[in-house]
Amino acid sequence: MDTITRKTMLYKTQVPGLDYAMNPVQGCSHGCRYPCYAYLMAMRFGKVHSYAEWIRPVIVENTLDLIKKELKKWQSKIHCVHFCFSTDPFMYQQPEIQALTLESIRLINAAGIPCSILTKGILPSDLKNLDQRNRYGISLVSLDEDFRKRWEPGAAPYADRIRALKELHADGAMTWVHMEPYPTPNLIAQDIDGILNTIDFVDHIDFSGLNYNPVVQKYPDPSGFYSSMKSHVIHFCKEHHIQFQ
Ligand code: SF4
Repeated sequence: MDTITRKTMLYKTQVPGLDYAMNPVQGCSHGCRYPCYAYLMAMRFGKVHSYAEWIRPVIVENTLDLIKKELKKWQSKIHCVHFCFSTDPFMYQQPEIQALTLESIRLINAAGIPCSILTKGILPSDLKNLDQRNRYGISLVSLDEDFRKRWEPGAAPYADRIRALKELHADGAMTWVHMEPYPTPNLIAQDIDGILNTIDFVDHIDFSGLNYNPVVQKYPDPSGFYSSMKSHVIHFCKEHHIQFQ
């Protein structure tokens, strides 16, 4: 796998509810076609020049050195580190990336700082031995594998994502599902209850629609649809004692 170096790694996010974040990789072999906001930004700022380049991820080879250096400076200011906003920390079938993420989490946890992880890959069982304050999440907007192959072609099969999350939950980990970007019925006709019932064990669910795809605007009243789906998810969460975020 190709590598790059960077000057900094940990950064303060502007996202409400999140503290610091890091992205130890550039690009993402999941290649989501919603499209992926991180891909659009990477193209805009000249980090990559094509979709083909985006789906060939490159590792930031000095990630661990940067984390060690930055933790020494900012350890007391950092309350949590989120993985990731511009790539996937447990990219499917990318063992080098998975190993780098695990080592990064270990370093951060060793400094007394918990992490939050979000992936469309498979959360490894090694996570169960780490800081109990860590929070593990998967992105999930469907259970239909034909939909996944079309819209998230390189990501892990849905059932495998859920299985890994459930195993961590059974070991006492804090788990969540990020239901975004949820598709409108003109992209796929599906029953949201079918999805929710497979994830009724998690601690948190968040929900949001698909913003960057013109097909969504062709659906009659997309905002009405998303408002009704959000209410439905909130109701489900209340019934199942799950926190809605
Ligand atoms: S998993 Fe995330 S970063 Fe990777 S292509 Fe999909 S949306 Fe983009």
